[in-house]
Amino acid sequence: MKLLHPNLFICAGLFLTLCLLGLVQAERDYYEVLDLPKDTSARAIKKAYYKLSKKYHPDKNKDDATAQEKFIELGRAYEVLGDEEKRRIYDLEGLEGLKRSEGGGGGHSDPFDLFSQFFGGGGGRQHPEDRRGPSIHLDLDVSLEELYNGKEMDADISKWVICPKCRGTGAESDAHIHTCEKCQGSGVAIVRQMIAPGMYTQMQTTCDKCGGKGKTVESDCPVCSGHKVIRANSQITVVIEKGMVHEEKIVFERKGDSGADFAPGDLVFSLNLVRHATFTRDGNDLSMDMNITLLQALTGFSKSFTHLDGRSVLLERSEVTPSGFIQILQGEGMPHHEYPSEKGDMHVRYSVIYPKSIPEDKHEVLKEILAQEGEETE
Ligand SMILES: [Zn+2]
Ligand SMILES: [Zn+2]
Repeated sequence: MKLLHPNLFICAGLFLTLCLLGLVQAERDYYEVLDLPKDTSARAIKKAYYKLSKKYHPDKNKDDATAQEKFIELGRAYEVLGDEEKRRIYDLEGLEGLKRSEGGGGGHSDPFDLFSQFFGGGGGRQHPEDRRGPSIHLDLDVSLEELYNGKEMDADISKWVICPKCRGTGAESDAHIHTCEKCQGSGVAIVRQMIAPGMYTQMQTTCDKCGGKGKTVESDCPVCSGHKVIRANSQITVVIEKGMVHEEKIVFERKGDSGADFAPGDLVFSLNLVRHATFTRDGNDLSMDMNITLLQALTGFSKSFTHLDGRSVLLERSEVTPSGFIQILQGEGMPHHEYPSEKGDMHVRYSVIYPKSIPEDKHEVLKEILAQEGEETE
């Protein structure tokens, strides 16, 4: 954030050079400006600024000087309350405290800069390449199969793009853009004020005619209504790589919202792993539960399950398998991200399903078989 902007007072009194910060402008309480209580949240401040700055933006209030003043006032309030440190000082020591902490300069950021951080087409006079629009964050549901096998997904994204009709000027045609008559294109107006008999001060303010842009638009672009950006859908292919993890971020640089006065922000996908019916992932390992009958537990078995890539994987045991036993299949876990030929392990946890009853005439046979075992444990 730029603290010292040319909107500093240029004090060029005829006889004296004075800096009259407090005198020239008595500012309203910043919370009042945003119409919020003092104990409000950072989120509410952001929201209020978002709503009000849109409402009072000079683009929408071309002939309304009060709205334009309000817009600048909102920018000042948000510059302070939107910044945790500045807000703390303001709450404790007020405007005076802030001025002290800023070295007595008391300069303000350009309200259009602040606005541009939220929206496209806010206008501003500084270097567009320095400013980035907000990133778009999207959750993308992925299945364990997709993380195991990898996948290309097409996503439809709705975002702000530069209006193709006016190419971001907001004007019906280039012939409808004029250099602002009031400020001759500089975007600033010099106001001369008498502060005491025979003593004058000059101060720079944002030109109210053009809102600081230096240009006025005679007739708005019919496609974007002068907003310079339009909402448009675009398709993007997201490559899910083998072994990616839950909450992994896939970043498309500069594919976020575009604006006429800033570089596009990023488009960021955050992977959200949907719970799988059979397998649970833990790092690069997988685990699953498998039921076996008592007979299988005692005499061994040969069973199979379908893996995430559709392969049938054989589970074989010839020994007795107690309930809770975990069999480890090496290399049957998840592929390591970026080294997909390396894989974790699969943990198969067995549960023995007992028969509901054994017919009485079979008890003798069972005793005969299992007696030895029973005696040993007694
Ligand atoms: Zn347009
Ligand atoms: Zn102007």
